[in-house]
Amino acid sequence: MRKTAVVTGASSGIGEATARRLAAEGYEVVAGARRRDRLDELASEVPSIRPATLDVTSQESVDALVSSLERCDVLVNNAGGAFGLESVAEGRLDDWQRMYDTNVLGSLRMTQALIPKLVESGDGVLVMLTSTAGLTSYEGGGGYCAAKHAQRSMTETLRLELVGQPVRIIEIAPGMVQSEGFALTRFRGDAAAAARVYEGVPGPLSPDDVADAIAWSVTRPAHVNIDRMVIRPRAQA
Ligand code: NDP
Repeated sequence: MRKTAVVTGASSGIGEATARRLAAEGYEVVAGARRRDRLDELASEVPSIRPATLDVTSQESVDALVSSLERCDVLVNNAGGAFGLESVAEGRLDDWQRMYDTNVLGSLRMTQALIPKLVESGDGVLVMLTSTAGLTSYEGGGGYCAAKHAQRSMTETLRLELVGQPVRIIEIAPGMVQSEGFALTRFRGDAAAAARVYEGVPGPLSPDDVADAIAWSVTRPAHVNIDRMVIRPRAQA
């Protein structure tokens, strides 16, 4: 039976690019997200991609997906994003909750549910999509930076706790990536505001740039753990 990779947030951006790349590497890919129409379109293009309706903020939804799997060799915890860029003083509590529930607790739900299958694989790989926002802080990014810091910390703890188990833990921390979510969620649909951020930054990363890094690190031999890759556009400080 072919190895199976589960990619969360595969309906656009980095997740979609990663699903395509892992399928090209020979994996059976389970592509999870809420926008089922997008996933169906993707699966109709790439036969080894199976669409799966998934909301990582719902334990029920996570459990339903996991119980449908015969095996899982790779889990890419990619679903997430920045929802709101207000100052800490003016940030909306519901935005902060959503950022935590998706980036941190969503990854936690998927990870807890799939650790047994990753161990069973004999060469399980867990990829956590964090961000350079998890390495620093910037004005207006309070909630997102805090969530990505938390996600990174959880990843490091997990690495310690799984030492001795056949599971590799890989953190991928991209800088600015020009994905759909970047303009739509982070800037509340304000494309002009998103464009202003790109001013002076020639060539933000593309989702494919990040998918390349994920595919490369996942396909190293079983004894080689790429702990963390930080990938920025050349011009990003
Ligand atoms: P996109 O908005 O293009 O993709 C986000 C994906 O997450 C979508 O497929 C969306 O699908 C999915 N998603 C969101 N909420 C949920 C949920 N509750 N359950 C399941 N899926 C969900 O953004 P990116 O590709 O840019 O982001 C992907 C990851 O990369 C995120 O974790 C982000 O924080 C991280 N990142 C992004 C950077 C950037 O500059 N763009 C930089 C560094 C890290 P749907 O709405 O269909 O559910």
